[in-house]
Amino acid sequence: MLINDGKIGVFPLIGKKTLGCIVANSNTNKLSAKEIDYLDQLSRQSSITIQRANSYAEVLKHATLDALTGLNNRRQFETRLNQEIASVKRQNTPLCSIMIDIDFFKKVNDTYGHIAGDCVLKTIANVIKRELRESDIASRYGGEEFSVLLPFTKIDEAYAVAERLRKAVEETSIEVQDEKDNTLKVSVTISLGVYEYRENDSPQEFYQKADKALYESKTTGRNKISVFK
Ligand code: GH3
Ligand code: MG
Ligand code: MG
Repeated sequence: MLINDGKIGVFPLIGKKTLGCIVANSNTNKLSAKEIDYLDQLSRQSSITIQRANSYAEVLKHATLDALTGLNNRRQFETRLNQEIASVKRQNTPLCSIMIDIDFFKKVNDTYGHIAGDCVLKTIANVIKRELRESDIASRYGGEEFSVLLPFTKIDEAYAVAERLRKAVEETSIEVQDEKDNTLKVSVTISLGVYEYRENDSPQEFYQKADKALYESKTTGRNKISVFK
């Protein structure tokens, strides 16, 4: 599109949708046919490059996020775990891990069906996300298990976060459709294990210790938090 007596040219950038535009403003003459032709080529090439970059970002998103919950997937959890531990070793800052497992989740599936189970998983993931800070790293570790890494956080604070999560989940009423399409309200609880990184823990040892604490919560009543000692 040429405006202002041909002194300004607007060249759209179009991929799958409109991506933007290039605006060329000549402060002397009208844009020449040669300049217009050049800008036309440039905008076409730019559109292709931006579209490719967007597609790549979309692919990356699917490779790092869990499709059901939108949390980091297991692979991304491991990547972030290694990064955080490397950073803790360099800077000597605190780091905590919380492992979370939904209590008696099999019963939810057995009673209301798998689709209702998926809905519960999604809701719990959202509750976890909502209760955390931007810098915390929440992942779906396995089926109904979640992991949270808390950079720059000491054990007392991590315990408080765990308690906030436990309480928020307990208080959440989840609307699900059962297999006969009846709408029902379901609530679940979670068990948690907390651990603060200690020098020389390997990444595996680090999260396994939180997992051991989680196991203690499971065997001593559920809907509670244990700290690995
Ligand atoms: P506990 O309190 O000891 O953790 O009991 P639980 O029933 O939660 O534990 P168990 O390991 O026996 O069962 C976990 C269940 O989670 C079984 C499995 O079918 C279900 N599950 C795992 N992934 C998914 C999923 O993506 N969707 C649904 N709907 N269910 C899932
Ligand atoms: Mg489990
Ligand atoms: Mg469970």
